[in-house]
Amino acid sequence: MSIFADGFTTDPYWWDAAPPEAAPTGPLPETTDVAIIGSGFCGLAAALELARNGVRVDVLEAGPLGIGASSRSGGMVSSGQKLVLKGALDSFTPEKATEALEDSRATFEFLQTLIGREQLDADLQICGRFFGAYTPAHFTTLQRHAELLQSKTGVQARILSRAEQQAEIGSDFYHGGMLVEEYGGLHPSKYNRALRSAARGAGAHMHNFARVESWTSENGGVTVQTARGVVRAKHLMVATNGYTAKELPWFQRRVVPVTAFIMATEPLAPGVMDAILPKRRMVSDTRRELSFYRPSPDHTRILFGGRPTAFVNDEREAAVGLRARMVQVWPQLADVKVSHAWRGNVAMTFDQLPHLGQEQGVHYALGCNGNGVALMSWMGHQTALRILGRQNRPSAFENRPFPSMPGYHNRAWFLPLVSAGYHFRDFLDRPAAFLQERSLRRA
Ligand SMILES: Cc1cc2nc3c(=O)[nH]c(=O)nc-3n(C[C@H](O)[C@H](O)[C@H](O)COP(=O)(O)OP(=O)(O)OC[C@H]3O[C@@H](n4cnc5c(N)ncnc54)[C@H](O)[C@@H]3O)c2cc1C
Repeated sequence: MSIFADGFTTDPYWWDAAPPEAAPTGPLPETTDVAIIGSGFCGLAAALELARNGVRVDVLEAGPLGIGASSRSGGMVSSGQKLVLKGALDSFTPEKATEALEDSRATFEFLQTLIGREQLDADLQICGRFFGAYTPAHFTTLQRHAELLQSKTGVQARILSRAEQQAEIGSDFYHGGMLVEEYGGLHPSKYNRALRSAARGAGAHMHNFARVESWTSENGGVTVQTARGVVRAKHLMVATNGYTAKELPWFQRRVVPVTAFIMATEPLAPGVMDAILPKRRMVSDTRRELSFYRPSPDHTRILFGGRPTAFVNDEREAAVGLRARMVQVWPQLADVKVSHAWRGNVAMTFDQLPHLGQEQGVHYALGCNGNGVALMSWMGHQTALRILGRQNRPSAFENRPFPSMPGYHNRAWFLPLVSAGYHFRDFLDRPAAFLQERSLRRA
């Protein structure tokens, strides 16, 4: 039996409802106040705020509008838990760490306020997230994480035993887990479309197929060369995240694109979702090469993401691996087929932190580290406030050293090796589950 449904596609499931915009968008202007490179959440949130304040703004996008990670994402919405749990703030002074935590909490509130205020059609649901412990040792780590989150961020985190987790995910695959209620999910491509529409409504201009090829700073402004002609701007903003390429060499050396995959199942039979995700939570696990998954916003399908093997580079192959992981969690889905499987670039940084600031006279907001729906929207908004001179205080992520790695230019040759290391350690952690996953892949 093929695991692929009829009509299987490598386009994101999200594009069924809200595809990227390829229709012609009109000529480029000769001059503008602010040119923004990239039409994801970051560039669009900046465009919206600038346009609302009467600034002429033009978004320049290399492909169709909304073609980047923003319309490919898992759509899970969080504040900055990851910064605390991954130790990314360890290099901060206590004062800066407090500001960074304030800023990360602000990202979650900002997103909810923005969607509410602008009445964006984004299917946002605050539904909580369950973190499943892959091993008993990971369960102990999650207990420590719950205490850390509560003491450092005030976020309520509840620990659930293996028996209690049944009420959250209808599975006994994990050794218990942690539940954080302050978590949500949205439809990322609808959110992207709604942001475009709000920004245009406020007066922003959008240009697709206008790849920025180079720029030069001069006389307090910037001359931007695009695939569709030249634009002179008072300010230029880089919002290219995991798609930062050779046209932006200084930024490319600091942002590592990591491919992540997601698959969508065909619609589940009636009643199945009630059994497997009774509270419609977002879910992830504690594997080093983690899985993240969720119900679709209409609660009919499961969307399951991750990097199932170290060297996977093909959507169909990824779907086979991701589906095996899904069946491990929910054996009752063994006959469910895959309708979509797609890829996208996550922007990792060498210090695991997001960065915003100015370089060579150009504003930038980059480095979601896999957690960018709320964060990159907020960073775009912050960059707009900075251009407008209206920030309450500089962000804790602003104007910090933005490290690269000696010898790293554009080819992340080390990524498959790092991923192989993660998979090997996941194998050592739970050999039986690892081997079961392999045999499910072959079945
Ligand atoms: C598979 C996947 C799953 C994810 N899941 C989640 C999740 O569940 N929760 C979460 O919080 N985050 C998640 N993320 C991360 C999140 O999606 C991103 O952080 C966020 O969408 C980045 O938004 P952005 O606007 O910064 O960049 P993008 O949306 O990637 O936009 C950048 C744009 O810049 C354009 N561009 C690049 N170079 C040029 C150029 N020279 N000229 C013109 N345009 C250019 C690109 O074409 C692209 O459209 C996920 C990411 C991926 C890939």
